[in-house]
Amino acid sequence: MPNQGECFRRGTATFLILGRTCTRNCTFCAIPLQERPPAPDPEEPSGLPARRPSWVKHAVITSVTRDDLEDGGASHFAPTVEALKCKDPESSLKF
Ligand code: SF4
Repeated sequence: MPNQGECFRRGTATFLILGRTCTRNCTFCAIPLQERPPAPDPEEPSGLPARRPSWVKHAVITSVTRDDLEDGGASHFAPTVEALKCKDPESSLKF
């Protein structure tokens, strides 16, 4: 991650949710393909704020693609955002 140092200095960090494998296989991406990934971790939304360092002022939430889920993971994104905003309402989020 060539820009990681600059991003961290500016208080920005990206969090990848919904697993470590992806249902797609983009050739430029290093995330492994898995057509049937495990179900999303139900503890992830509530656990993410604790993983967020206090210096993070701008959190980018992204995810692997979950074509296997009926809603694509939307019902996992919503509580994740809620949990982060509850912990720090002043922080900004981007998806
Ligand atoms: S995480 Fe994104 S870029 Fe990587 S394989 Fe999945 S869809 Fe493609």
